[in-house]
Amino acid sequence: MRHVKMKVGRQPGRDLARVRTARAAIGAGPELFVDANGAYRRKEALAFADAAAGLDVTWFEEPVSSDDLDGLRLLRDRAPPGMAITAGEYGYDQPYFRRMLDAQAVDVLQADATRCGGITGFLSAAALCEAYGVPLSSHCAPSLHTPLCCAAPAAIHLEYFHDHARIEHMLFEGAPEPADGMLSPFRDRAGLGLELKEPEARCYAI
Ligand SMILES: [Mg+2]
Repeated sequence: MRHVKMKVGRQPGRDLARVRTARAAIGAGPELFVDANGAYRRKEALAFADAAAGLDVTWFEEPVSSDDLDGLRLLRDRAPPGMAITAGEYGYDQPYFRRMLDAQAVDVLQADATRCGGITGFLSAAALCEAYGVPLSSHCAPSLHTPLCCAAPAAIHLEYFHDHARIEHMLFEGAPEPADGMLSPFRDRAGLGLELKEPEARCYAI
């Protein structure tokens, strides 16, 4: 993997030490991303961004609440160069993404097809990204987003969330495996390329 993402914000006092440990573990090569899920206040987030830049953190996701568009914009304007401010995973419709882009709140917009109206909604977010000149990154559900990102020129990467990758491989035939940090859709399977493993899924039926 060429990028590694970790959570921060639950215990802000420990975050820098945790990030330092993660950087030491992955070495100098991969980019290190952090995701605060909106846990910081604005000034806390600014201070963390300054300190984390020294550890080559290149992505700061939801430094403040993704509803705080002015706060995201503040972080975007003030964060060290080379650190992208990102949000969007809670978007459920196109107006949400448009408000975020109009507010110039993010360097990279995130979208999740399982939340924002499926394939149509995701491609709509992707079209907005193209129109605004902002890159797109998909959130979770890597097997679903692999073919969708192939159809979205603004997409730069997708989130390979381990829990999701594990469940997808448990429940679906055709979940792609990363190779050299890349996911590729199966070209010999129809549609999304996924087929439910019914026997494995049966025990979860309600
Ligand atoms: Mg996130």
